[in-house]
Amino acid sequence: MRQILEIQLTPKQSTDAEAVRKVAARLLKVSPGRIWHIKYLKRSVDARSKKIWVRLKAEFFIGEKLSFEETNLRKEYPFVGTRPAIIIVGAGPAGLFSALRLIERGLRPIIIERGKDVKARKFDIAQLSREHIVNPDSNYCFGEGGAGTYSDGKLYTRSTKRGNVQDVLQDLVNHGANPEILFDAHPHIGTDKLPAIIGAIRKTILDSGGEFYFNHRVEDFIIESGKLKGVITRNGTTFEGLSVILATGHSARDIYRLLHRKSVLLEAKPFALGVRIEHPQQLIDYLIYKQEIREQYLPAAAYSVVEQVDGRGVFSFCMCPGGIIVPSATAEGQVVVNGMSNSQRNSEFANSGMVVTVNLEDYQPYAEQGALAGLAYQEAVEQLAFSISGNSQKAPAQRMADFKEGKISQSLKASSYHPGIVSAPLHELLPTEIGARMQGAFPMFDKKLRGYLTNEAMLLMVESRTSSPVRIPRDPESFEHVTIANLYPCGEGAGYSGGIVSSALDGINCAEKIALRFIKNV
Ligand SMILES: Cc1cc2nc3c(=O)[nH]c(=O)nc-3n(C[C@H](O)[C@H](O)[C@H](O)COP(=O)(O)OP(=O)(O)OC[C@H]3O[C@@H](n4cnc5c(N)ncnc54)[C@H](O)[C@@H]3O)c2cc1C
Repeated sequence: MRQILEIQLTPKQSTDAEAVRKVAARLLKVSPGRIWHIKYLKRSVDARSKKIWVRLKAEFFIGEKLSFEETNLRKEYPFVGTRPAIIIVGAGPAGLFSALRLIERGLRPIIIERGKDVKARKFDIAQLSREHIVNPDSNYCFGEGGAGTYSDGKLYTRSTKRGNVQDVLQDLVNHGANPEILFDAHPHIGTDKLPAIIGAIRKTILDSGGEFYFNHRVEDFIIESGKLKGVITRNGTTFEGLSVILATGHSARDIYRLLHRKSVLLEAKPFALGVRIEHPQQLIDYLIYKQEIREQYLPAAAYSVVEQVDGRGVFSFCMCPGGIIVPSATAEGQVVVNGMSNSQRNSEFANSGMVVTVNLEDYQPYAEQGALAGLAYQEAVEQLAFSISGNSQKAPAQRMADFKEGKISQSLKASSYHPGIVSAPLHELLPTEIGARMQGAFPMFDKKLRGYLTNEAMLLMVESRTSSPVRIPRDPESFEHVTIANLYPCGEGAGYSGGIVSSALDGINCAEKIALRFIKNV
């Protein structure tokens, strides 16, 4: 017999298979020994009341032991080395997952990536933190695995309508991720684990006859009579294929500018901008769990806040419990911050993006830049942060309550941000439409989480790469660019996704559209 049941466990019980079996047996009115298999379906921490519970939904296999095998969800990838080629520009989640799906459908992916392979990237990332040198092809956003690799690896997504989220998670598990991501309510991998998974995905693609070209920055498109024929990289190599999936992410400003120069239709789109906020993790644990010292079996507490101020959303974004703030600039002359954490989430800090929606009307001062006006807005704030930091990767910073009061901080707290911080009046430096709304929202957040608004927290400027301020418009049915044939804008850089999972799903969807178009004809 099989029975699906939701049970309530203490955090300690939730980490012990025997304890889970005992609790379930009591509810099912059977002896624990009669439960011979438990398949976890959903697990979440419930901190709504004083006593914290872990809720577990699982399928329990009871009684006579049947011959039973877990469904083998590993995929067999065919060899596609002799099949027609599809060019993929960018080896982020969108590019890599489109490659895997193209292989499944019998097409050969050729992946062209400006950055280095995932291991070699590490050196440049360390150099960025230590020596403040930004390699424009190898940094937190560029290189194998894309922006998602040296990140937090949070896999929670609301975009379930885009496709089969479980399929993406299963592919990650097949390539080495912890199977717990399949049932955790807020799955998370961690920056220490992601590189090996990305390496394993590359191996699958190569073993199946796909190709990778690292250190190949695409610098031109071959467009003839409205049809994209291929791409040319910085070292002069030309790549041609049936189609091009353009999955270059939201930070590839040179790609937007190249498309604009070539009169390929682009559109300005809203995005969100603000700061990264950092609290002591112990304080967030207290606010969420109401425990002075978090009990051993609970994960570092996370939060999510949102309020409307003067008609716009102010919201936390990409929260990293037990994480660190990292320098995410992709070129010299800009300061950009983001957050990440390792699998243990064991740093003493809790950071989160704290951002406000930026609307098209805010782009007015840059209107002469047309579709790139939002890019200019974003870039101007990043450059301002750089100039305030003394032309380094130090981040302008202010204590939270000081920001609210409009006072410059006389002293700063320690921060996880390795390149360093400088005291600055963020309330004056952020665009008014952002800063004033954040000042308005903080007391509202504090009403919900008493103690959230505090000078123990610091704001670091600037969290600007939340999503793309540009869209590369595509036909909603075929996913081809609206005017250039064979061009498939894909992922976050095209303006069609945000985050690792939704970008992977968009990659899969682009691959499916291409397969549908070509597979009958080749
Ligand atoms: C520090 C950090 C932490 C993050 N944490 C999370 C998280 O926990 N969870 C989450 O869901 N999201 C997170 N994100 C966001 C997430 O990484 C992105 O949403 C996602 O990676 C977008 O996928 P993508 O494939 O569309 O683009 P990207 O991942 O940006 O990949 C684009 C790729 O294209 C390459 N490229 C760019 N230009 C060219 C060119 N001209 N020629 C060749 N190649 C080029 C780049 O090098 C890059 O590898 C984080 C981002 C950062 C920076």
